[in-house]
This record gives sequence, structure tokens and C-alpha cells, in this order.
Amino acid sequence: MRWDNLTDESEHGRAADAALFGADAVTTRTFDGPEFRGITFHEVRARSVLNRVPGASRMPFEWTVNPYRGCTHACVYCFARKTHGYLDLDTGIGFDTQIVVKVNAPEVLRRQLASRRWQGDHVAMGTNVDCYQRAEGRYRLMPGIISALTDHANPFSILTKGTLILRDLELLVRAAEVTDVGISVSVGFLDAELWRTVEPGTPAPERRLDVVRTLGEHGIGCGVLMAPVIPFLSDHPDRLRETVRAIAAAGATSVTPLVLHLRPGAREWFTAWLGRHHPHLVRRYERLYAEGSYAPRWYQRRITRQVHELAREYGIGPARAGLARRIRPAEPAPAPTGSEAVQLSLM
Ligand code: SF4
Repeated sequence: MRWDNLTDESEHGRAADAALFGADAVTTRTFDGPEFRGITFHEVRARSVLNRVPGASRMPFEWTVNPYRGCTHACVYCFARKTHGYLDLDTGIGFDTQIVVKVNAPEVLRRQLASRRWQGDHVAMGTNVDCYQRAEGRYRLMPGIISALTDHANPFSILTKGTLILRDLELLVRAAEVTDVGISVSVGFLDAELWRTVEPGTPAPERRLDVVRTLGEHGIGCGVLMAPVIPFLSDHPDRLRETVRAIAAAGATSVTPLVLHLRPGAREWFTAWLGRHHPHLVRRYERLYAEGSYAPRWYQRRITRQVHELAREYGIGPARAGLARRIRPAEPAPAPTGSEAVQLSLM
């Protein structure tokens, strides 16, 4: 494993800056219990956790914090798989089971926020891998991170599929009283069979929508990143309708569709999965993604238009943001559209 490549920028491309971890700072652990069976944790001590998104990126945020690398949610299509390769870790099953944990992330963040050089910019979390994945239940890094941001009244956003975020509900409510907090939950579809096979480590879509509902009940407006819309598997108009209807019923303040993209690293893993579970679709995918990592623009536009029409029909939109009691209107979660979503892991 190449720890000298474990830099904080690498989720946005292979970084050239200096190593952030000393080789002697790596501790490898496994834990008993069914939820951690087969998973290895690599504990590292970070020198920095505020990562600047490279200028070339088209992301709508400049700074990120990612306490984990790898993700036990194990979504087959996850774009972040590629970043495991920078550590010489496997981008397939290794991404799902070899989890890097920046165990000192809260202290380091607190120190960096206090620096005179820090300008108080918005900090996005969950943009590379899920900060509320299973590991967070044991390492409990997010409470310290949220508290540090709150104490500095520093605006932030979180994108997640993890219901574990509700553990930190009180902290989020407290944060929203002093700064802008944006929460988005990712729910691409409701189909239970598709969920079990393509997002095997995640909470069920309905449970994620319960998160949206609960946050709203506590005054925290929550958007939904409807991602990914999976061609030929979740894009039928009836499927889109049932998903948007459920998102609306959960009280989401916004819905942003994002069509599956298949960049290197994710593409191979997804294609193998497709061959096992839906072999009749392999040729159709080859044709749809013949030009590269993205579905054609006409297809992306069609899905976006359909979802936006449904959102209007079910009343999801800016008016919903007003439902939030204490929080300011939900910070648009990392929610770029179409091919601009090049850096999101399809959280
Ligand atoms: S898409 Fe998100 S939740 Fe799924 S494996 Fe990747 S980082 Fe984890």
C-alpha cells in the first residue's frame, strides 16, 4: 500500500503535494461482530483534513473534509473506487472492505479552522465517500467534526446515504442555529431488488427517506440527490414517478437527478455486476456509454426533464425550503447537474 500517496486531495485527482501521513502512523485493525466481518480498518493520523478542490474542478464547493477512504456501503457504481487505486488498494472488493480512517480528523480540523489563514469558507462532506458509513458507528468522528464547525460558525454541507446521521441530529440542529447547514440524502430509486444488489451495504431507500422526514420534522430542510438513475433499470417513467412521489412525501426541499456515470475504476466493476445480474443489458450499455463515461446528453436531458416535471407535479421546490423552521434554506447539496457531476461518487 502506498501511504505516501494518501494525500487529502486525491479524491479529486492524483495530488502532487506532499504526503500527509507518516508511514509509522498506520495501525491496522479488524473488529468482531457481524457488521464488520471481513473489513479491515487502516487508522492513520492526518496532518491536514481541509482539502482544497483543485481549481479545474467544476464542483460547487471549494473545500471538503473526508474522514474516510473506501466505503462499506459498497455501491457497485461508486466513482470513488478509482481513488483506492492511488493507494495501491484494490478498487473492487478492496474499496468495500479496506477502509482508511483519519482517526484524528476532529482535532486537526479544529486546529485548521482556528488558523488565521482560514477564511471560513463552506466545507462540503460526503463528496468522496460516505462520512456516515458503518465505520462511523465505531469511530464517531463526525460529532467532533460538526462540533468544531459549529464552534467556528463555519458553514457546511453533508451528503449521505447513511441513516447514522440521525445519531447526530442534536448537533446538526445546534449547528443550524449558528451557521448555514445543508443536508442532502442520496436516493436514486426505490426498487428493493435493485437496491440489494447494486447498493448492498446501504440502508434501504425507504430508511433514507425516513432520514429526510426526520430532519424536516426537526427544522432541517433536506434535499435529495436522486442518484444514480440507472439506465434500463430505474429509468422507466413509472419508476421515476414512484421515486419522486416518495421523495416528495418525505418532505424533501429539492430533488436533483443524476444519471449513472461510469468512469474508469467504477466502469469495470459495474460492467462485471451487470454481466452477472442483467446479462441481456450488457450490449445496450456498451452502446449507451460508447462515447465514454457518460450517457449521451439527450438521455441525461430527458431524465432531468422528466424528474423536474414530476417534482413540480408533486410540489417539490423552493417553497418547500420555507418549511424548515430553524435552518436557513438548505444549502444546495453537492448537486451539480448532468455531466458536471464529474467528481461526485454518485452518493
Ligand atoms: S456511492 Fe457513496 S455510499 Fe455508495 S459506496 Fe460510494 S461513497 Fe459509499
